[in-house]
Amino acid sequence: MGKIQKILVANRGEIAIRIFRACTELKIRTVGIYSAEDNGSFHRYKADEAYLVGKGKKPIDAYLDIEGIISIAKDSGADAIHPGYGFLAENLEFARRCEEEGIIFIGPRSSHLDMFGDKVKAREQAILAGLPVIPGSDGPLSSLQEVETFGETHGYPIIIKAALGGGGRGMRVVRSAEETAEAFERAQSEAKAAFGSSEVYVEKFLDKPKHIEVQVLADTYGEVVHLYERDCSIQRRHQKVVEIAPSTAIDDGLRMDICNAAVRLMKKADYVNAGTVEFLVDGDRFYFIEVNPRIQVEHTITEMVTGIDIVHAQIHIAEGRALHDPETGIPSQDSIPLFGYAIQSRVTTEDPLNHFMPDTGKLMVYRSGGGFGVRLDAGNGFQGAVITPHYDSLLVKVSTWGMTFREAAAKMDRNLQEFRIRGIKTNIPFLENVVKHPDFLSGNYNTAFIDETPELFL
Ligand code: ADP
Repeated sequence: MGKIQKILVANRGEIAIRIFRACTELKIRTVGIYSAEDNGSFHRYKADEAYLVGKGKKPIDAYLDIEGIISIAKDSGADAIHPGYGFLAENLEFARRCEEEGIIFIGPRSSHLDMFGDKVKAREQAILAGLPVIPGSDGPLSSLQEVETFGETHGYPIIIKAALGGGGRGMRVVRSAEETAEAFERAQSEAKAAFGSSEVYVEKFLDKPKHIEVQVLADTYGEVVHLYERDCSIQRRHQKVVEIAPSTAIDDGLRMDICNAAVRLMKKADYVNAGTVEFLVDGDRFYFIEVNPRIQVEHTITEMVTGIDIVHAQIHIAEGRALHDPETGIPSQDSIPLFGYAIQSRVTTEDPLNHFMPDTGKLMVYRSGGGFGVRLDAGNGFQGAVITPHYDSLLVKVSTWGMTFREAAAKMDRNLQEFRIRGIKTNIPFLENVVKHPDFLSGNYNTAFIDETPELFL
């Protein structure tokens, strides 16, 4: 494969900038793409060269323009594409097209996207690897009768999930037999509308579990390591809001069992590149839920506690280097450090006083925090930036590190307070309430924390 010379990043916002930075550090030239709506977007200027994509298409569709992106890659002489997260990151056709064109797709093989993009197939794979899964249907559901029988056998609540769902969408909790018919129908039609397939399956809905996920790196020679876990239990509407590494809520025995299970699955799947295996934890039991075959939003905190640059690693793996090659520099599993604690807050342009409605317009003032143990990953975080309604509302990721969890939390609180943003509403006041809440600080939380803590809502 050899050294990559030029990478096109098929994404926008903070993750595009994150990847450009890694490329520059590795002396790799960068190509950006931008939609017409992103004409003034910061990621465009952070690339060595950037091209308009998806002319005449809807704003979202511009970044999904497979052929447009492939032809920009070829014309600009990019030998690899990094898809970031979202958009085409898990798109089977896109990965296949890259493979056909001889462009390196910085991620797993298309066969892994096929295996893990569909939660029903992923679940089958996890069972094959001997991982515990939540009691659920074997394969997709074809009739309401099957849902009702499942509910009767396992008891309510249950959760109906879109096989191709993601991002906290396409899930419906059903609390009693009476709700099943409507929920099944709506879940199917929502799945079809959002993900192009009405395929759904059902699982027992666990009562207030923790969400624990394991970061994994795998090279093309079958070597797989984990970089420990992240605790992403602080969620709103099944979407992550604040993440922590490592978890303060599990003991070392459980931690090792979960991390080893993740490695076992990825080895069995012959996985390549960076990926995350997600679990729900209920007491001292853990259950596989899904694999995210890509870089994740919250990778920053794993980088802070292990010192490993995951995007660098992704690029080295894509170049065909072994994990323990001196250039890649990943230590053997036993020597991977885990040092202190890190927390990430997702600052969004959403108004916590108005049901988290996305706000748009111009940032009249933008000043961020800083200092020891602070990392900022921003997209359009600058005075004069125009926040449009076309894309997701993530403004900046604030990650803090501390020797103890409380120290990391104190730095987060102080940093959030230091932000001065005018012209656009953000969720910062809400985040401040989360990171100083006594239950957060004592590790006494689970996925129901935000819903059950009304005082967070100002
Ligand atoms: P997505 O792919 O949309 O992120 P996941 O399957 O990863 O969906 O689930 C997201 C979140 O939804 C989990 O972190 C958890 O809070 C909740 N969830 C999913 N499945 C269950 C379940 N069976 N029981 C309880 N909560 C669940």
